[in-house]
Parts: sequence; structure tokens; C-alpha cells
Amino acid sequence: MKEADILIRNCIVLPMVSGEIIREGIIATKNDKIIYVGKKSKAPRLRAEKIIDGHGKVAMPGLVNCHTHLAMTLFRGIAEDQPLEKWLKETIWPLEAKLKPRDIYDGALLGCLEMIKSGTTTFADMYFHEDQVAKTVEKAGLRAVLAQGILEAGVPRRGEKMLQDSVSFTRKYKGYADGRVTVQLGPHSLYTCSLDMLAKVRQKASELNVGIHIHLAESEETVNETKQKHGLAEVELLERIGFLGSDVLAAHCIHLTEKEMRLLAQHNIKVSYNPVANMKIAQGTAKIKALDSVSFAVEKRWVYGYLGPNGAGKTTTTHASVDHVDLKTFFLTGARCALQLNNKEFKIPLLAYYEGMEDIPWSLPLKPQISQRNTSL
Ligand SMILES: [Zn+2]
Repeated sequence: MKEADILIRNCIVLPMVSGEIIREGIIATKNDKIIYVGKKSKAPRLRAEKIIDGHGKVAMPGLVNCHTHLAMTLFRGIAEDQPLEKWLKETIWPLEAKLKPRDIYDGALLGCLEMIKSGTTTFADMYFHEDQVAKTVEKAGLRAVLAQGILEAGVPRRGEKMLQDSVSFTRKYKGYADGRVTVQLGPHSLYTCSLDMLAKVRQKASELNVGIHIHLAESEETVNETKQKHGLAEVELLERIGFLGSDVLAAHCIHLTEKEMRLLAQHNIKVSYNPVANMKIAQGTAKIKALDSVSFAVEKRWVYGYLGPNGAGKTTTTHASVDHVDLKTFFLTGARCALQLNNKEFKIPLLAYYEGMEDIPWSLPLKPQISQRNTSL
């Protein structure tokens, strides 16, 4: 007889290690570790203090939010129906300038709560006063990849200061909260950081052995602006300055040429897919299938962050929770459909989400459940 703390029985398990779905699954945990997950028929005899009936429910690895600005829960419902630049310049940046560290803490803690409620266990965040976000991660028991934002917006001195702060943050908070915090540098984008600054960020990231979190090809207007100014598309520019690398997490990636897609694949860039935020500002969404084909053509892999809501201010009026809840529903409904209809197409978004996670360090604790690549429903 094996002793467990919690025993969940009669649930459908999506183990992500084979093509098999376990319909009468059992999960047993002891001291915060899974000691058994699998078929009821193969389970050892188990005794547990707490038994949960999982009938009608699906158990699967925690969701990963690949791109957010968590404290923006504070801005939920502000500035509806605005294009990206107007939204940023006229509403968000002036408001952000007034935020105090305590505001960030409160907003991020609310975001943590909403993510926990929707089954998200890890998130990648880029914002200001990121030390406060780290504290909420510690309190909430989540796992996070945090980047202190760097934004010049035409003021190089400000950019330098923000780069220094971003570097200090990585030094201080690497491995924070019992190792649950991973750190990155967070240059906002090509339209808010100069090429000089981005080259410095690249150099620092390599020196510090940390990753980089950046917005890429998010709006048609900014993409066109960059092209007019430099004569090259965003990804081409980044390649020219040696910025691209497998440690780069790029959010959005909507307005890309095929050449840019190939470059991203060649450099094994991790792409966060944020359809809800993108639809909110009517920018379309990343061409996931095309990215997928290109990446497989060069034998690279992508990370898709379905939970990339981009912060509550940028999605829907009630955003983060709605976004997270909607996406949870999306996954679970999709899983049910796949079970009932043997819908092979659905496996593309659902499993891409997990498969890509193998390649990023913050997914390590999930590895036993996703260690085989060619999972299929
Ligand atoms: Zn963003």
C-alpha cells in the first residue's frame, strides 16, 4: 500500500507522453510531487488522506502564459477601440508613469489569482518594478519568467537607465522564490528601442546568460515605420545586429514576410501567440500554420503561448480573467471535441502548446509529462 496526500480518480488524463488518452485515470501526489499518474488498472494500491472524484474532468499539465504585463489588470476596460500607437501613447504610457511599486504589486497579485483560477501555472512577464511582480510570484506559489522592461521612446538616457535597472533585476532575482523565478532582459520593441540599445541588450543578455523578451511585428503601422526608417523588416534588422538567438522570446509576430519567418526558424526564436490581444486592436493574428511549416522545414521548433493575453488593458473589457478563462475553456472544449470526434486538426493548436514547452527552461518541472515530441490525440 502506497501512501499519498491526494488521490484524484476517475478523471481523463492527457499525459502528453504518448498518443494515448487515459480515460479512467488516477493521479496521486505526495509532498507536492506526483507519485503516480496513469491508468487505474495499472496503479499500485494507494491510500490517501484526501480523495477527489475527477469524473467528467480532464487533467493536464498547467498552462503557460508566454506573454503578459500582469499588473495591467489595473487598466482593465480602459481605452477601448484604440489602435496600438494611440492606445500606448495617449492612454497607457501616461498612466504607467504614475504607477507606484505598490500598485504593481496589487495588480500583479490580482493577475496571479486569476491565472491560478484558470489553471495557468507559469507566466512570462515584461513590465516595470518587476521586483514587485517577483514578490507576487513568491506569495502565489506560481512560476514565472520575469523581465524588467526597457523603453527608450526617443530618450537614449532613459533607455540606458532602464537597461541598467533591467540588468540589476536579473542579477538580484535570478532563481528567486526557491528557483521559481527565471529572469530575462525586456527591451520593449523595435519601435521603442534604438538599434544601438538592442545591440547592447543582446550583449548583456549573452554576458549574463539570460534570455530576452521582446514585442515583434505587432502592428502594421510600426512595422511599416521601421521599414521606412531602416530599409529592412524587423526580423532582418535584428539579424543584422546579431540580436537573434534561441534565448529570444518574441511576442505577437503577426506581420512577417516569409523571409522573416525563415530567419526566426533558423535562429530558433520562441514565438508567443497572443490572438486575443491582437484581435482587440484589430491587427490580425500570427500565421501559426505558416510559421509551423517553415519551422519544421528547417527542423526548428516553436513555442506557442496561447495564453499570451498581453496584459489586461489590451485584451477585453474584463480581460485577463476572461482571456484566461476563455482559453482554458478553449483547451478543455477542444480536448473534449478531440475525444468525441477524433478531430485530428485540433491537435495542432493544443499540442503545439505543449510540445514547444520542451525547449524552454521554465517548463522543466513539466518535462516528465511532455517528454515525447510526437504526441497526438
Ligand atoms: Zn505585450
